[in-house]
Amino acid sequence: MSFDLTDRLIWVAGQHGMVGGAMMRRLERERCALLRDGGRARVDLRRQSEVEDWMASHRPQVVVLAAGRVGGLCANDTFPADFLYDNLLIEANIIHAAYRTGVEKLLFLGSSCIYPREAPQPIPEEALLTGPLEPTNEGYAVAKIAGIKLCQAYRRQHGCDFISAMPTNLYGPGDNFHPETSHVPAALLRKFHEAKIAASREVVVWGSGTPRREFLYVDDLADAGVHLLRHYSDGLHVNVGAGYDITIAEFAEHIKRCVGFEGRIVYDRSRPDGTPRKLLDTRRMQALGWSAVRPLQKGLRLYYDWFLSSHGKLRETASEHPALSRLTSPLLCDDTSLQTTYDLERQA
Ligand code: NDP
Repeated sequence: MSFDLTDRLIWVAGQHGMVGGAMMRRLERERCALLRDGGRARVDLRRQSEVEDWMASHRPQVVVLAAGRVGGLCANDTFPADFLYDNLLIEANIIHAAYRTGVEKLLFLGSSCIYPREAPQPIPEEALLTGPLEPTNEGYAVAKIAGIKLCQAYRRQHGCDFISAMPTNLYGPGDNFHPETSHVPAALLRKFHEAKIAASREVVVWGSGTPRREFLYVDDLADAGVHLLRHYSDGLHVNVGAGYDITIAEFAEHIKRCVGFEGRIVYDRSRPDGTPRKLLDTRRMQALGWSAVRPLQKGLRLYYDWFLSSHGKLRETASEHPALSRLTSPLLCDDTSLQTTYDLERQA
């Protein structure tokens, strides 16, 4: 039995972020009503009373939980308390308020970093809690696991139709290009773009280029989110990925071609590679009737077009941390050694 989104009032928490923005774009194509919020300035989702007041006064019928503190390995490793605290509070406040206000359906977005460091590849949903986590992003991962468990507990105790999806590495419009908090696609895109503008002869990518990673265009994820809202109602979280992985070297070549950089790529093998492979097992999602549709080349073209059109007004997500706030404009930074090691170990 499918859940009907028609005429439902939907709140996308985190709607000003990359994933939330894509969910809004996708839901605008449905015959539903979308709640627009004023972002963090209007409601700090870490504050229970603010979340409860917002939910009680706006009464959304469907909630997509795409808000959270997000960052690459460097940020996670440097600020583990913030990643754990913020994400736990955001999830607990929204999920509990959703139960209290009778939300009919809630989709929680987690991350592939919930899985053990040594999980089998491709990683099935059942690998959750079968081994130790990657220590550098443990706080973030534990918070995301708690989000899954909250959805399951409210489903079991209160009969709430709360579901969870675990996306792989994402890229697309609204991405964060900050040199210290960005993920692989944003870091590489920016690096190749800046090398092209500077007419550099080479771009240095940290590591050997051999680790394999999976990348999904964020609008594909949004499409998967709507599909799950409609067709999925179970406690088990569902992986959402592209269904295939490529080496970092192949990915870098794709970005090089997309950007039009004519120099060469040099791999700095003195830098660590991270885990050799990270691919989600997406058979459950496929069995539900959904697969990603945008080929990587097309996704990257859309990504770069958006990057160029947003030049100069890209997001500065360093937020409260002085260490991460010292750059006023990410594109004016002269740091040529972007955090590619961190990127290879990024959280999905
Ligand atoms: P973004 O940083 O782009 O978006 C997160 C959003 O949450 C921002 O709008 C942010 O607002 C908001 N937010 C964070 N803290 C608060 C707060 N205390 N109060 C109000 N709003 C807050 O991240 P993404 O869109 O990339 O990620 C969203 C979710 O998607 C993540 O939680 C993660 O689980 C999932 N995900 C992301 C992946 C990726 O590759 N990016 C991969 C897999 C999963 P502000 O701008 O003010 O900080």
